[in-house]
Amino acid sequence: MTANPTRVLVLNSGSSSVKYQLLDMADGARLAVGLVERIGEETSRLAHTPLATGGAKRETEAPIADHEAALKAVARELAADGLGLDSPELAAIGHRVVHGGQKFTAPTVITDEVVAEIERLIPVAPLHNPANITGIRTAQALRPDLPQVAVFDTAFHTTMPESAARYAIDVETADAHRIRRYGFHGTSHAYVSRETAKLLGKDPSEVNVIVLHLGNGASASAVRGGRCVDTSMGLTPLEGLVMGTRSGDIDPAVIFHLARNGGMSIDEIDSLLNKKSGLIGLCGDNDMREIRRRIDEGDERAALAFDVYVHRLKKYIGAYYAVLGKVDAVAFTAGVGENAAPVREAAVAGLEELGLAVDAGLNAVRADEPRLISPEYARVAVAVVPTDEELEIATQAYALVSA
Ligand code: AMP
Repeated sequence: MTANPTRVLVLNSGSSSVKYQLLDMADGARLAVGLVERIGEETSRLAHTPLATGGAKRETEAPIADHEAALKAVARELAADGLGLDSPELAAIGHRVVHGGQKFTAPTVITDEVVAEIERLIPVAPLHNPANITGIRTAQALRPDLPQVAVFDTAFHTTMPESAARYAIDVETADAHRIRRYGFHGTSHAYVSRETAKLLGKDPSEVNVIVLHLGNGASASAVRGGRCVDTSMGLTPLEGLVMGTRSGDIDPAVIFHLARNGGMSIDEIDSLLNKKSGLIGLCGDNDMREIRRRIDEGDERAALAFDVYVHRLKKYIGAYYAVLGKVDAVAFTAGVGENAAPVREAAVAGLEELGLAVDAGLNAVRADEPRLISPEYARVAVAVVPTDEELEIATQAYALVSA
């Protein structure tokens, strides 16, 4: 029996996928990473990389019927490297749970009551919470003795004041249907805002940070002294920035118009705004690399998509600057934020009066480390801070079970 188990398995269960990482919290080392995709289809695929042994990535394609079969396949892969789920060194399983509503403000050890509450939140997270619950139930069946911890995407945003969290609609109607702004990507915003403070040599309580999480999904947050005071996603991840396939902010009357005059059903409009809008709706591509390539070739649709994307981003930087009053840093993160120098440059261009500038040389540098890209003279630091949601989930889960 190992005296102090230090490993945490992080599970991110989607509707047809499971992403996982095994971390050792003694030193933060990643022991294994992997992904099961297309669960329930003929062409399911499992990709597993045993980092602990330095082994090569193993990929298998075979039908995987459901999440239980997926997790068992993951367990087999881990066991093949001596990292099996039965290991006494495993301290906890940390689950990414998308929607924790107002109730879950911190990571939580999962009990039946916790699962019941996550279930009660399904109406506001119909795509995500059911998959998260399936992942939890399956992991519990495999290791019933092990603490399972839920780390909520919404938790970091529960510190938002009512003035930011409330929609200006009838209060009784809103409350009856739990309609308010919850925000998402919370583990990333928490991690990146803390890492940004560290980069500035300050405690999180001493700095105000605007975090721009720009992945395929994208959100901004205003973080004052380590606490979130506003964020761009709302009741669902549809609100806010222009994303890979989501529209972000639109006039809600667009929906009435499409239903009344466009003959579209609610499901069709839902799909339009979540899956066929944003960058892909504007130019047919949602990958910023491809969009930049097309712009370089003179493609006008791609240029329009880029401009709409950046315009919205700039509006949120301005809005959160005003919300915070004083800003110490703007931090770019996730796939686009970490890699797309032209997006960073364009988002900050013309904001010198706000103390914001980007140094072209520093912005062009590629690195995996957090780094500053603003010139020495700039009043506000502009940073690129790679996010690490799995490490954050493992850190939070481990802190809870080892306390
Ligand atoms: P994420 O959701 O954080 O994994 O981000 C995925 C997105 O990041 C992709 O859809 C691309 O738009 C973007 N991305 C990834 N790598 C690059 C890169 N090297 N340059 C520009 N954009 C990138």
